Amino acid sequence: MKKFEDIYGNRRVVEKLKSTAKSGDALNSYVFEGLAGIGKKTAAEIFAAALLCENKQNVPCGVCSTCAKTATQNHPDIIYVRKKKDKATLGIDDVREQIMETVYVKPLLSGYKIYLIDEGDLLTVGAQNGLLKILEEPPSYAVFITMVSKASLLLDTVLSRSVRLAFLPLAETEALRYFEEHTDAEESKCRFAARFSQGIIGRGLKLLENEEYAELFETTVRLTEGLLRGGAVISEFERFILDHKEKTDFITDIMLVFLRDCVFVSVGKDEKILLEEREQAIRQIAGAKSKKALVAAMDAVLLYQKRLSQNANGSCAALELLMSIREEMNVKSNRSQI
Ligand SMILES: [Zn+2]
Repeated sequence: MKKFEDIYGNRRVVEKLKSTAKSGDALNSYVFEGLAGIGKKTAAEIFAAALLCENKQNVPCGVCSTCAKTATQNHPDIIYVRKKKDKATLGIDDVREQIMETVYVKPLLSGYKIYLIDEGDLLTVGAQNGLLKILEEPPSYAVFITMVSKASLLLDTVLSRSVRLAFLPLAETEALRYFEEHTDAEESKCRFAARFSQGIIGRGLKLLENEEYAELFETTVRLTEGLLRGGAVISEFERFILDHKEKTDFITDIMLVFLRDCVFVSVGKDEKILLEEREQAIRQIAGAKSKKALVAAMDAVLLYQKRLSQNANGSCAALELLMSIREEMNVKSNRSQI
């Protein structure tokens, strides 16, 4: 089972959780704040396991019967609060059914009853007000851990009754060490993941361990290369983006990495290339296109990401994006013409 020592970075937060678990004086509500994939849930699970562990010296010990239950998510005093599958938000009904109806029943096996709310971003105002009611007069054994990307998504009244802990991205070297120690990926892939992840472990792990993302990555790189070289890929690329609407951020991030590599080569900073495996193609494209065109293409991708975040019509914008990149590449296709 995972222990506090397995958490990379965020030492201050980790030490605080560890000492709280050892002293056994947990407060009723914690808010873990940090970007998706940064490790909030892992930390919350370790904290919960540590609070319940029977061995008070080295928590969680990983060997006591309580740890055996928490490690397999089978401990009745740890409750995962989740939205219903067909709903987009975590509403007051969920809080009522999953928290209010159970919180006043004493823990079955241990001194705490711990509620893990890992979809905190999806809590409606009504649900937060429901939670607030409990936090105003909580049973002493209840511990709520609410995980959010930004604390500002929660009501001030909820925050003021909670201990707020912020999780920060890791340094690139720490992220690299994590990927080297925890995955089987080859060195160049780990280096790429460390930079691409921007210190967010989950983001890098997706790339290294999730087959679907690994495939998305390969296809995006292939299509981006084709698009920049002038190949007949626009309709395939458009379909690809439309077929993966929920993952457009990932796809466009990879496009940006590719373009950024081309720009670095075109200004003579070859050592900055991230996509080492595509170095040859990147050099060729950087040699054939102007820096101005490549930067304009990056701007087009950034504009597209902005539009997506504002919920523009995805299909229109995708084709527009690809056409505008192609146009940049065509109009100024040769350095000597500039
Ligand atoms: Zn234990």
